[in-house]
Amino acid sequence: MAKMASYKGRGRLLLLSSLAFVVLAVANGEYLIGVGSYDSTGPAAVVTLMGYGNIQQNAAGIHFRLRARAFVVAESPDGARFAFVNLDAGMASQLVTIKVLERLRSRFGDLYNEENVAISGTHTHAGPGGYLQYVLYIATSLGFVRQSFDAIVDAVEQSIVQAHNNLKPGSIFINQGDVDNAGISRSPSAYLLNPAEERARYPTNVDTRMTLLKFVDGKSRESIGAFNWFATHGTSMSRDNRLISGDNKGAAARFFEDWYRSASGKGKPVNRSDVDGSSLVEKAQTIGATGGKPCSKTSSQSSKVRINDGSLFVSAFCQSNVGDVSPNVLGAFCTDTGKPCDFNRSSCNGDDTRCVGRGPGYPDEILSTKIIGDRQYKMALELFNSAKEELMGKIDYRHAYVNFTDIEVELEGNRVVKTCPAAVGAGFAAGTTDGPGQFGFQQGDTEINPFWKLVRNVLKKPSAYQEKCQKPKPVLLSTGEMFIPYAWAPAILPIQMLRLGQLIILSVPGEFTTMAGRRLREAVKETLISNGNGEFREDLQVVIAGLTNTYSQYVATFEEYTQQRYEAASTLYGPHTLSAYIQEFKKLAKAMATGVKVPARGPSPPDLSSVQLSFLLPPPGDFPPPGINFGDMKEDVTQPESKAFKTGERVNATFWSADPRHDLLTEGTFAVVEKLEGERWIPVYDDDDFCLFFKWKSEGYGSYGSATIEWEVPEDAKPGIYRLRHYGSSQKIFSSTEYFTGASSAFTLS
Ligand SMILES: [Zn+2]
Repeated sequence: MAKMASYKGRGRLLLLSSLAFVVLAVANGEYLIGVGSYDSTGPAAVVTLMGYGNIQQNAAGIHFRLRARAFVVAESPDGARFAFVNLDAGMASQLVTIKVLERLRSRFGDLYNEENVAISGTHTHAGPGGYLQYVLYIATSLGFVRQSFDAIVDAVEQSIVQAHNNLKPGSIFINQGDVDNAGISRSPSAYLLNPAEERARYPTNVDTRMTLLKFVDGKSRESIGAFNWFATHGTSMSRDNRLISGDNKGAAARFFEDWYRSASGKGKPVNRSDVDGSSLVEKAQTIGATGGKPCSKTSSQSSKVRINDGSLFVSAFCQSNVGDVSPNVLGAFCTDTGKPCDFNRSSCNGDDTRCVGRGPGYPDEILSTKIIGDRQYKMALELFNSAKEELMGKIDYRHAYVNFTDIEVELEGNRVVKTCPAAVGAGFAAGTTDGPGQFGFQQGDTEINPFWKLVRNVLKKPSAYQEKCQKPKPVLLSTGEMFIPYAWAPAILPIQMLRLGQLIILSVPGEFTTMAGRRLREAVKETLISNGNGEFREDLQVVIAGLTNTYSQYVATFEEYTQQRYEAASTLYGPHTLSAYIQEFKKLAKAMATGVKVPARGPSPPDLSSVQLSFLLPPPGDFPPPGINFGDMKEDVTQPESKAFKTGERVNATFWSADPRHDLLTEGTFAVVEKLEGERWIPVYDDDDFCLFFKWKSEGYGSYGSATIEWEVPEDAKPGIYRLRHYGSSQKIFSSTEYFTGASSAFTLS
């Protein structure tokens, strides 16, 4: 293929080279494909987690790590290509997209640009915040958090670089199926406002469809990765959780990738010790804790269970039209009475804070995360194993920047309406049943009381035009009219269409509700088929990639908007926001179908990096208590009375430690379970495992703290001798970062 790339001739040479490509395509598959993955875990202490808008929800450890997972597809080395990144984060960020594109430009020139790169958030509500650029989205993280931002930009860039470097001929298979009970409507009363004949065309009030791509290496015929799209919120972990987590989609990705590792024989080392139970216990008793010791910056990386050398199998669970879909599938109940909440307002006697959704593992949110992750993973695995339909045909893309604050939208009957500057309504402050707000608002509020009006007017009184334009939304924050200290909400949004044969991916910069997503997909499909001159067929698959390239909150249908529940109150650009999206996407679809460029490019969104404000203080500098080294045991493993632990039990150890923000230990780990094999300690679980918890607690006015490592012994753990290890880093004032490690006393697993 590399040789082909050098063919720059025309006519006969071109014909020869395209013939060569066809031959190659038949032999090895249709496309060039590469996958990549990189650790994007941000600061595991102090920084507020992004999603619930809860200022008290700051990070205190890691359940499992966050990653950016990417695939690149190309028609040929010189042909059309695009990169799609699935990012374990609350949402995409305009500033992240801008900076990633700058870096890609300096590496690859024009190869990857705003038109053919999509960065799509999984919508976990358990990732560190502060990486967005508009004021409303960084208010609870006390402004911009450079460390969160850098971790994400680095990871997205690295994942694309890996995917690019891995490009080789291969085939792509597509498959679809319905995921059972992984999402319910959290605004069913709003859904019911959509026309009856429209609702009658669908079996349920949420989309249960999962669409999966399976990437297969053309030479070895081994699979290199799988990406799927399915809509359900990343809110299995609650607004009180303080551990970094990929939530249900991150969990599903971890389960799928680990399944592939063990299925392909690259899994955990098997137990090779052949000593019997009693001598194991005797031996373990002789091995005490190591005490804290200095180590190198990269030590924790060599303790990783899944070393990232660029050859990892990559499986990503991507977000879709998630707006009104909750993973808390048992429904929402009043915390005081246990009865279902008010249907229209999602409140209990007028109090929204008492109406909370329950996941299938209720009241255990970790279990809920696991179950909802598992339901997605199982369906993805089934689709992966049975995928037969091969994608064939063109790679193509269209992209536009659109100023959403004043789009003229032509409705049926030649009626022209307009979108508005961004604003959120009262229902926004009410939050949802996944995480209620704390300010006394209810979903569906169409009035704002005099007190909150007063507070609002101190910030910014909405213009008369805005109040009229947004009706029936009562404008709580006119974010599109607020510019102090800088813009509170986006005005210019990117929209994007990616084509991979008979698959279309729609990159939308927000959270479309179920019905909003259905309308958009249908409009695009219809436009492509009717303008495509036979190029697009009825079997064309259209998926929505939600929360992509930037973030602009929700998009509800016109009918749902009238009720002003949370999703409608968060539909920024007024009642005709969805119609504007459909109109603008149809332009992209028509351009793609007729093979022309998008006519007007529109203004680019601003880069606000130079005006960002940060109020979050860095770690104050570390000094352990006298006589203590970081990495020393604070509380060693408590040996069980039965002398040996069993699967399903929990093992704990607490180490003296320093603020984990000094070094994020990217592609490394803060916590390890080591198993004794002969004379060697082998890492068998790390802080990217679902069964291992790293919990951080600040003490001594922030000058030191404690790191608790908690292992919930999984069913597949083998009998043997184990210990828990901690890695960390510290920094005295005005000196460089020092790295340390320590291991607990050994214990036996029977
Ligand atoms: Zn959401």
